[in-house]
Amino acid sequence: MIVGIDLGTTHSLVGVWKDGGATLIPNALGQLLTPSVVASDDERRILVGQAARDRMVTHPSSAAATFKRYMGSDRKFGVAGRMLRPEELSSLVLKSLKADAEAFLGETVDEAVITVPAYFNDAQRKATKAAGELAGLKVDRLLTEPTAAALAYGFTTGDEESTILVIDMGGGTLDVSLLHSFEGIMEVRATAGDIWLGGEDFTQLIATAFMAEAGNDAGLPPFAGKLPVHASILRQAEIIKRDLSDAEEARLEVNYQGRAIGWTLQREAFEKMCEPLMARVRLPLERALRDARVAPETLSRIVFAGGATRMPMFRRLIARLFRQLPVHHINPDEVVARGAAVRAGLIAKGSGLEERVLTDVAPFTLGIEVTSRVSEGMLLPGTFLPIIERNTVIPASRSHVVTTLQDNQTKLLVKVYQGESRMVRDNVYLGEVAVMIRPARAGEETVEVRFTYDTSGLLEVEAKPSSYDHVESLVIEGNPGVLSKVDIEHRRAELARLKVHPRDDAQNQAILARANRLYEENLGSMRTLIGAEIDRMRNVIEGQDPEQITAMRARLGEFLDSIDRSLL
Ligand code: AMP
Repeated sequence: MIVGIDLGTTHSLVGVWKDGGATLIPNALGQLLTPSVVASDDERRILVGQAARDRMVTHPSSAAATFKRYMGSDRKFGVAGRMLRPEELSSLVLKSLKADAEAFLGETVDEAVITVPAYFNDAQRKATKAAGELAGLKVDRLLTEPTAAALAYGFTTGDEESTILVIDMGGGTLDVSLLHSFEGIMEVRATAGDIWLGGEDFTQLIATAFMAEAGNDAGLPPFAGKLPVHASILRQAEIIKRDLSDAEEARLEVNYQGRAIGWTLQREAFEKMCEPLMARVRLPLERALRDARVAPETLSRIVFAGGATRMPMFRRLIARLFRQLPVHHINPDEVVARGAAVRAGLIAKGSGLEERVLTDVAPFTLGIEVTSRVSEGMLLPGTFLPIIERNTVIPASRSHVVTTLQDNQTKLLVKVYQGESRMVRDNVYLGEVAVMIRPARAGEETVEVRFTYDTSGLLEVEAKPSSYDHVESLVIEGNPGVLSKVDIEHRRAELARLKVHPRDDAQNQAILARANRLYEENLGSMRTLIGAEIDRMRNVIEGQDPEQITAMRARLGEFLDSIDRSLL
């Protein structure tokens, strides 16, 4: 069975094509959104999702979140006494979604369409595929998130020609894509974005403002280490940010060492402090239109995806820039997952869906290092020679012939980079391949360098010398962000040794983690009350009577709801 997965920065969702439509699948807690958070409990068992997110507040040093931002890098996070890579943490989230889907569908799920930001580079896409493999999922196809959003809206099925701008601002990234739909063919004309701009930056601004205006004076420790009080502040900041999408003012309150510290934020003040962030939102919008040579007034539709597009200032900016209102009737948190489910349906050739050809674009320019001749006798080494230009429709295969620079050269080194700068030192190094050549006078011997970029965003580089009959193809080595096949096998075996909390215990673990978080966040008699409830819940769990456990959980849930707001 094949499912569609939105592997998000803040949360993830899984969906399936069923009975002629996209259906989202609830997790063990009955929720469609599973926080992309991994933590470990006192027995070093792995928790994923809501329980992990609550655990992060009380035990920040044994939890990891927003690891999607580091996909494709060798950054590691400490969880369960181990240092885990972003793709390993992502694989734990994927495994949890896979288990939810299997429980819901009653059959084995062994394949997935996973969405990635259109802006993800080669290493990040490879890491996403590796995460799927580590979770035991075959991932033939990665789907860019904006394309998924357009698929969910069904904008790809009409015959008339249209140009769709998809603006997706989630927790961690902003993606802008220009899609062109014509006779059922969907083409991504241009993509732009900012991988360091998302809803969390707005939350962070609120937390910083709170510290500056109230926290510091109240003696709160500065945001340096991972202290529980800081996780609490961020959580409260997140809540009031959402409140400010509907209300003119909101109040944040944190408890610290027996004191409650309160602070009120007006929407107007919030929007003022966000101006620099909103200015950054404009840049990729303008670049995508420029790259695709599209005038704003010719856009047929603007589609919103990602929770952060709910902010009124965001909607105002887009309406002002494009003089039209974006469509957002599908829940922006769900739209990408729904599109992934549609794509999964296409692959499975499900009923009620016509096959559509989708194309994609290269998010960055890909090229090699060359020495350019500025003038006679003057050479400029380290120049970037683009081979596949940014926003080229893929799959694409392009080649370029380079020549030798010195007499009797026996080897030519092809160094591969991605980026937009003229000098390679300002671009991102991807790897290199050396090719043997016949010794000859400088400039006589040539090598054809071919780049082939596929729809999953994977790049293959081939170098063919003119005088020999062999082709060297590029194995990107020394890139810390990419796991080899052997590494993946090895890590899969290691991951299998991690103890994961049993799914049927998920509700108990989640409610206990939440109660423990509230115990830390509250004070005085409320705290004592919560402590007593935690003990009672633990006792009932030990008693192993399913009916009593369910009843106690419902009671505790109601009690916690009365003192806390859920973020989901
Ligand atoms: P996504 O990853 O697409 O689900 O987006 C999550 C981001 O959307 C987070 O940063 C949330 O804080 C943000 N978000 C969700 N709901 C709202 C809301 N009502 N107002 C402002 N931001 C929101």
